[in-house]
Amino acid sequence: MTIRLYNTLTRAKDVFTPIDPTNVRMYVCGPTVYDFAHIGNARPAIVFDVLFRLLRYSYGPDHVTYVRNITDIDDKINARAAERAAKDGRNVPILQVLREITEATYGVYREDVTALNCLQPTYMPRATEHVTQMIAMTQNLIVAGYAYAAEGHVLFRVKKKADYGKLARRSLDDMLAGARIDVAPYKEDPMDFVLWKPSTPDQPGWDSPWGYGRPGWHLECSAMIEATMGETIDIHGGGIDLVFPHHENEIAQSEGAHHGHPLANVWMHNGFLNVEGEKMSKSLGNFVTINELLKDWPGEVLRFNMLRTHYRQPMDWTVAGMSESWKTLEKWYGVTEPLANPKVGAAFLEALSDDLNTPAAIAELHKAGDDDLAGGLGLLGFSNVQLNLAAKKQVDEAAIATAIEARKAARARKDFKESDRIRDDLLAQGIVLKDGPAGTTWEIKR
Ligand code: AMP
Ligand code: ZN
Repeated sequence: MTIRLYNTLTRAKDVFTPIDPTNVRMYVCGPTVYDFAHIGNARPAIVFDVLFRLLRYSYGPDHVTYVRNITDIDDKINARAAERAAKDGRNVPILQVLREITEATYGVYREDVTALNCLQPTYMPRATEHVTQMIAMTQNLIVAGYAYAAEGHVLFRVKKKADYGKLARRSLDDMLAGARIDVAPYKEDPMDFVLWKPSTPDQPGWDSPWGYGRPGWHLECSAMIEATMGETIDIHGGGIDLVFPHHENEIAQSEGAHHGHPLANVWMHNGFLNVEGEKMSKSLGNFVTINELLKDWPGEVLRFNMLRTHYRQPMDWTVAGMSESWKTLEKWYGVTEPLANPKVGAAFLEALSDDLNTPAAIAELHKAGDDDLAGGLGLLGFSNVQLNLAAKKQVDEAAIATAIEARKAARARKDFKESDRIRDDLLAQGIVLKDGPAGTTWEIKR
C-alpha cells in the first residue's frame, strides 16, 4: 500500500518513501510541561499516534521509531519555578523545583494520552537531559560560521543560511512580524535568533563556554532529534502554529550543524482546534483540559471525535460532536470488538494511507462488515474498555448500591470471605470501592 502524506515543505501530497524501511523515524514536538494539557494539545498526540500505528502496520511494529520530546526548559516553566520557590521559601536548587513541577505535569500528561489510547512513543527525551548535546551543536554552528557569541548569548546568523524561510515561505517582513523579534544591541541582525542565553543565578542554567545559561527552545528539538535518531529523519510533526519560527529554526540549526543534510524529508502539521466556535483562552473561560473532559467522557469518545475531522482542517470541538461520537461507538461496539492485530478492508486502508484521511476511513467503517469494522477500529487505536466502563456507570448504579449493602452485611457478620468476593467482583467490572468514615463510596477505575 502506497502511503501519501501532505508535506508542508513541498506544499504537496507526496508518496512516502522512508530512508530505511527497517527504521522509519518520526519526531513530534511534545508538550511544554508546566500546566494541564488542553484538548488542542491532544490533537497532535492523537493524529501522530494514528500515523505511528499506520506505519507500524505497514513496515512492522519493530521498524518504526517515534520520538516525542518533553520541553522542560522554557521561560514559562522558569517563571512557575521561581513563583513556587518564592512561595515555599525552601532553600532548594531551582533545577530541583523545576523538576518537581515538570515531573508532576508530565505525569498527568502521560495519564491523559494513555486514556486517549495513544501508544507510548519509542523515546520521550527531556530537554534538561540533552544540554550537553545542545552545547555541542552550538559549538559546531559557531565553527561553521552559522552562529556567533555575544554578551553571554549565542545567536544564529540567519543571513548566512541562504534558504532560510523555505518551510514557512514567508517574506522577510512577515517573518520579522511573526517572530515578534527583539532588537537587541548584541545582535548582528534583528532576524538572528537565540541558541543560548545567559541565566541569572536564581534561574535554571548550565555551565557552558559562554557562561552560565540555558538553550533556546528551537535548539532543544534539533539536539534531541540528533541524539535519538541521527541527522536526517523521515517525518517531523507538530501543530500548524509551529511552522514559523520553531520548525524553520530547527531546520536552520540542524542543516547548519550537519553540512546541509536535511533535518526531515516530510513536515506534517495538524490544524488548530477551537472550542464551541471560539479560540481557546483562559480569559474566555473555554479552556478545556483533557483531564477535565476525561471525568465526563471516555477517552475513547474523545479520540474518535478528534479523528472525525481531517487532521489538516481547522476543527471545532463541541459537546454535540462528542455525544454523536459516543453514539456511533456504542452502535459499533454493539456488533463487534476492536482487534489488536487488525486485518483491515482495502478501502479503509486506502483512505487512511491518503494523507491520514480519517473521516473517509470512518465512512468506510460505516459500510464495513463485522470483520473489517473490527480491524479498522483496532488500527485507529480504539478499544471499548473505557466505553464499557462508562456505560456501566449509567446503568448499574442501583446494582452497585445493592452490592455495597450486601458487603456491609457480610462484614457485620464477619464473613470477610464474602465481603472480599463482593469487592473483587465489582473491581472486575471496573468499580473501585473506597471505605471511609462516612461509609463506602465507589468510583470507576481509570
Ligand atoms: P505546547 O505545549 O503549547 O508547546 O503545544 C504542544 C503541541 O500542541 C504543539 O504541537 C502545538 O502545535 C499543539 N497545539 C497547541 N494548541 C493547539 C490547538 N488549539 N489546536 C491544535 N494543536 C494545538
Ligand atoms: Zn520542536
